[in-house]
Amino acid sequence: MSKAIKKAEKILKQYYGYDHFREGQIPVIEAVLEGRDVLGIMPTGAGKSVCYQVPALMMKGITIVISPLISLMKDQVGTLNQMGVHAAFLNSSLTSGQYYKALQLAKQGRYKIIYVAPERLETESFLDFALSEQVQISFVAVDEAHCVSQWGQDFRPGYLKILDFLDRLPYRPVVGAYTATATAEVREDILDILRLQNPYVETTGFDRGNLFFAVKKPVDKYKELVSYLKEKGYDTSGDSGIIYCLTRKSVEQVSFDLRNEGFSVTRYHAGLSDEERKENQENFIYGKRQIMVATNAFGMGIDKPDVRFVIHYNMPKNMESYYQEAGRAGRDGEPSECILYYEPKDVRTNRLFIENGEENSELAEETRKIVKERDLDRLKQMTFYCFTSECLRQYILNYFGEKGSSYCGNCLNCQTQFEEVDITLEANTILRCLDALDWNYGAATVIDIVHGGKSQKILGKNLDKNPEYAVLSERTVPRLRQILRELQFREYVEEKGEQYPVICLTPEGKAFMKTEEPLIMKLPKEESEKKSESK
Ligand code: ADP
Ligand code: ZN
Repeated sequence: MSKAIKKAEKILKQYYGYDHFREGQIPVIEAVLEGRDVLGIMPTGAGKSVCYQVPALMMKGITIVISPLISLMKDQVGTLNQMGVHAAFLNSSLTSGQYYKALQLAKQGRYKIIYVAPERLETESFLDFALSEQVQISFVAVDEAHCVSQWGQDFRPGYLKILDFLDRLPYRPVVGAYTATATAEVREDILDILRLQNPYVETTGFDRGNLFFAVKKPVDKYKELVSYLKEKGYDTSGDSGIIYCLTRKSVEQVSFDLRNEGFSVTRYHAGLSDEERKENQENFIYGKRQIMVATNAFGMGIDKPDVRFVIHYNMPKNMESYYQEAGRAGRDGEPSECILYYEPKDVRTNRLFIENGEENSELAEETRKIVKERDLDRLKQMTFYCFTSECLRQYILNYFGEKGSSYCGNCLNCQTQFEEVDITLEANTILRCLDALDWNYGAATVIDIVHGGKSQKILGKNLDKNPEYAVLSERTVPRLRQILRELQFREYVEEKGEQYPVICLTPEGKAFMKTEEPLIMKLPKEESEKKSESK
């Protein structure tokens, strides 16, 4: 261990009370202390703030921390002050009296660390402080650095002002950028736009060994949810968990139903009043309510250590969102579960969000198009996660640019035995069945046709005249459902329509029918045993 790190560890002990740095923190801190720019890519909860606060305390002069969120600034400055570090924040939550007072004290060298919103950087009053002769800014830490990237989900135009600000300073300070977003485009953007000089780049700590990962494809998600909660004893144990839904409407529905079922539930989404949101959040954090049902609006800046499960009732739009939300489980290091319920509909809903998204309205048309494409690609990667039969942890780590072993033992896929099943015949039968229909029907009806159902709908609409009627009557309905999902995943068929989703054959599906290619699918072994039993 280098001398500098030994010294840094003393500071860590003295101010934070921790004995050791985490593995990924050391090189990032060391580089800054050597005067080198850094890009630290670490997941939420890994301890990024320590990575810039500790060097800030050791370096001469002032450290400026650029941060996008007022609430986070307040929290961090509050904590620093409690530790005995002179720190302040400058943002729009201050009255102008408070703001000028703070700047005056800053100019007198009263603060070691100053948090500032990016939009402030180019204001006259701030520059007056930053450029004044007695002030030496030796380190600029850019928190949530992905906000600089238009590819990211949280692009913040104010972040583009950082470079101008750095250029104005009489000496270029050391610059550190920190983020939990690790995709290649975002990383390149941060390096480019902030023009980091010979930076040390560290990607680390994405693995959270205490988290168990699973993807489930229940036919009835709500039933599955309730039986999970009961089976794990969440109706009596008092342990906490979060259930993420894609829309406000489903937050309302799921929280209402669970409450009726007798669970201790609260909810959170952007449609509630500030007051109610605050109250619900506190009820959850302080354990008055055990289960939080929420949209992705919930969670930023929340550090509740003992969340035992995070269930995604819907598939989110990308792996970044998924891992950030799932990662809110088990921050105390105790075993916790992250379960995702997959349903093909979620792919469509997310696609609609991306295609009609107003989020990036400030971007140029051309850029918006590229962003849209990347978002669709990310959605695809998210969907792959739901369909892989490989280790889920490895999939996650690879996505974030880290290596994982092919067997973690702590995810559903590692605990499931898969077998390869030839589904060529089934696939072609379903595709031919769709091809022969002159009207589009929902998934259940299509399965019913090939399975040979005799319902009113089948007989009434002469669907029993379909050439593929009852061809797969030997298969179980759950198996046929799996196969249809696989066809959807491969985009041989697609589901269309909001109110009444119908299954349609795609051009890719038609092309596949003409080939003689075999189609192999990996399926959990148990399921196949069940199949032979039910025969
Ligand atoms: P991030 O900004 O990466 O989401 P934080 O900086 O908020 O993470 O840190 C998450 C938690 O980990 C905090 O409670 C922090 O005090 C704690 N922490 C950071 N570094 C260490 C360490 N070396 N040892 C123990 N706890 C740490
Ligand atoms: Zn695994």
